[in-house]
Amino acid sequence: MKKMWSSVVAVTTALTFTACQSEEPKPAAEVADFQVIGGQVIDEAFFAENKTGACGTVDFGPSEARREPTPEEASKFQVRAAADNMVNVAWHVITSGTTGNVTDAQIAAQLQVLNDAYAGKGFQFQTVSIDRTNNSKWFGMTPGSRNETLAKQTLAKSPATTLNIYTAGPGQGLLGWAVFPWSYAESHYQNGVVLLHSSLPGGSAAPYNLGDTATHEVGHYLGLYHTFQGGCTGSGDSVDDTPAEASAAYGCPAGRDTCSATGQDPIYNFMDYTDDACMNHFTAGQTTRMAWAVSTYKPSL
Ligand SMILES: [Zn+2]
Repeated sequence: MKKMWSSVVAVTTALTFTACQSEEPKPAAEVADFQVIGGQVIDEAFFAENKTGACGTVDFGPSEARREPTPEEASKFQVRAAADNMVNVAWHVITSGTTGNVTDAQIAAQLQVLNDAYAGKGFQFQTVSIDRTNNSKWFGMTPGSRNETLAKQTLAKSPATTLNIYTAGPGQGLLGWAVFPWSYAESHYQNGVVLLHSSLPGGSAAPYNLGDTATHEVGHYLGLYHTFQGGCTGSGDSVDDTPAEASAAYGCPAGRDTCSATGQDPIYNFMDYTDDACMNHFTAGQTTRMAWAVSTYKPSL
């Protein structure tokens, strides 16, 4: 998930609601796992919005979700990543009247942003279809909502072999969200990415309108966590070459260094929350992790 607002309180505060009022706040090590709920990448905003209804929806997902690739797997996946895998993309433009009607040219520009970001990282993308649906309820869908389910059930195309990308207007400051590869069977309609329509190139969501929300969400779709996952302790984002980071970074705070471990915060990484103009790369470790996640959970992609 990616949000445009930085005014949200600490995750641990919101989690007190999520784990049902009667439970103790979860220790830090479990906080990250709470981000897998209903099979989706979510964040503190979702908890705040759903604090009365979140009990019973917590799904930690398969335990192997946080497993690291073995060295043997890593070397194999590095070979695989050297040849970019072409991914078919089905675009679903959801509008509310004339609002959200992104153009074919914007979609083409967005595809180019994705291809530039993922070149040499194991994946390239090609558009296979664009459909358009005027439905104000689906347009306002939020993570885990009935309207999200209805839209995806109706519109998803061949999820095992196709990346389904929905553009909509979810509100709540949300720029987009994605479903992790291990959350559902690869053929499940829930798989895919939802983007705020105005985050596409040429949209109005400055400074998030250069198309890197899609880059970020597709990263989740391919198995990446946020660079600030887990904060300064533990396995973080399960990638060795992204320095630990205490919290999401916004703007483009050069020199930010929030953890005592070696390395400045990875504010230029696509999996942080910085401005589109600030983020510019995935690491080798992230490339390996994406190849591992897709080989393991999305072998048909
Ligand atoms: Zn995210």
